[in-house]
Amino acid sequence: MTLFEKIANHEIPATILFEDDMIVAFRDINPQAPQHVVIIPRRAIASVNDVESDDAALLGMMFVVAKQIASDLGVAESGYRLIINCGPDAGQSVAHIHMHLLGGRTMAWPPG
Ligand code: 5GP
Repeated sequence: MTLFEKIANHEIPATILFEDDMIVAFRDINPQAPQHVVIIPRRAIASVNDVESDDAALLGMMFVVAKQIASDLGVAESGYRLIINCGPDAGQSVAHIHMHLLGGRTMAWPPG
C-alpha cells in the first residue's frame, strides 16, 4: 500500500481538507507555499504513465476538487499552480498519482 493510500485510509495522520469516495486532499507535510495541498484519487494509479481512458472521469474530478479547495483557501482569484510530477526527472517521490495545489505567493516560471 502506498503512503498516500494510508493517508486516505486515515492510517497515517494528515490534515485532510476534502474527501469523498473517489478523491482525498490533504495539506503537504513540507509546504512549498503558504497553501500547499496534495490531491489524490483513492485508487492507487502509480503515475501519469499509468493513466488509462477509464480513469478520465476520476482524474477530471481532481480538477473539480482543486478548484473548490482553491476557492475555500482564498486563492482562486489571486492564483495558484497545479502540478503533477511524473517520474524521476520531475521529482516524483511517491508512486501514487497526485496533484499539488500551490498558492498564496507569487511563483516563478519556468519552475526549477
Ligand atoms: P512528489 O515529490 O512525489 O511530487 O510529491 C510528494 C509530496 O508528498 C511532497 O511534496 C511531500 O512533501 C509530500 N509528503 C510526503 N510524505 C508525506 C506525509 O507523510 N504526509 C503529507 N501530508 N505529505 C507528505
